[in-house]
Amino acid sequence: MEGRVYLCSWTKQGDRFRLWVKRQPSVAAEGASFDEANERLWGAICGAYGDGEAVTEFDPPRPADPRSSWYRRAAVVAIGCNSRADVTSFEPYFVGGFCSDCGIPSGPRNERPLVVDRIEAGGDGAFAVVPLRLRRGRPSPSAQLFSEEFLGLLNPTEVAAMTWRRVERRQPRARKVFNELIASTVHVAEVGVRGVPSKFGGWRCRACGFVDIGMYYFLDTAHSPHNWISVEDLPPRLPTCFTIGKGKGLTLGFSRERWEGLVGKAGTRGLVSSEIGVVDADRVQHPTDLPFLDDLQKKASQ
Ligand SMILES: [Zn+2]
Repeated sequence: MEGRVYLCSWTKQGDRFRLWVKRQPSVAAEGASFDEANERLWGAICGAYGDGEAVTEFDPPRPADPRSSWYRRAAVVAIGCNSRADVTSFEPYFVGGFCSDCGIPSGPRNERPLVVDRIEAGGDGAFAVVPLRLRRGRPSPSAQLFSEEFLGLLNPTEVAAMTWRRVERRQPRARKVFNELIASTVHVAEVGVRGVPSKFGGWRCRACGFVDIGMYYFLDTAHSPHNWISVEDLPPRLPTCFTIGKGKGLTLGFSRERWEGLVGKAGTRGLVSSEIGVVDADRVQHPTDLPFLDDLQKKASQ
């Protein structure tokens, strides 16, 4: 399996950075900067394990870059699931049904357990979407699934702050139990940010008014955040876990401190953290003049 998560560690010796894979320290690399050493470590992992899409997770966390302090108003991370899961359609699972134009669900999740056709083995989390071949050009909603082992790492307050529901698996021999993350008492909407390049343009739906803000990230920064929130949308007392989202699915978030207590434990295989950019409210980009989705689709089919 490619794209596995490798738990790594690092140290600074003089002015050089040395990085290695924790369970096999001979897989190591050095560099003049952390990012240079990390690039080389990817090469070393590819050589040792044949994994050309390795994801490195660091304990202790990678060193902070002072140039990015403006988007570090709070230390929070988004949890990504490296395994994929296939859902034929999300249409039956939402109270308000589906917008027929943009395919985005309206209203909250209903009570029906999610049926999942296939979950890629080897991880304690999975990112569930409709496979490309079934989408007919439409964007897919998504869901994050987490194993029972992962839920077992959370404390009772954290588990109770979220709504979880066991998914039904169509793989007859698959025993591992997964739960869909359905809702959270603390949910923060993702935002676009002025001064951060915008990718995949974003769009508005003429029928339902849904706004897809697109993606905001720095191309030239090895570890640019891909998820951004306003510091004003976080509760004054930072929760240990919460959700963020752009209206197409939820992403689990943790305070960095809490995640550091979990990383590397059994129950976190294939889970990888990435920094959430947390900015002042006056940095937030309000989506205006975004193109309509149907106009974009017309252009694409011409
Ligand atoms: Zn719509």
